[in-house]
Amino acid sequence: MENKHTPGPWKVDSLNRIYDDNDLIVCLCSEIHRYPRESIDANAHLIAAAPDMLEALYSAADLQHATENDNCTDETLCLYCTAIAKAEGGV
Ligand SMILES: [Zn+2]
Repeated sequence: MENKHTPGPWKVDSLNRIYDDNDLIVCLCSEIHRYPRESIDANAHLIAAAPDMLEALYSAADLQHATENDNCTDETLCLYCTAIAKAEGGV
């Protein structure tokens, strides 16, 4: 699946606004759902790290698929490909 998300890196500010490299807001984590403040802060940082983690998953999947023990198929995805599919909206 083609990547349609805003390219990384993303960063988060003290108000949990997540920005792209051009300082455009990608996402805002707010207190609307009454999560504890520390959870909202943690969620914002996790979301901001998503593009970097996706790139790491691509690398990990490539390494996994290069091994003789690779058993990743269209029917049974490896752990990395499962997470990539979820990130790309495929799961
Ligand atoms: Zn895989």
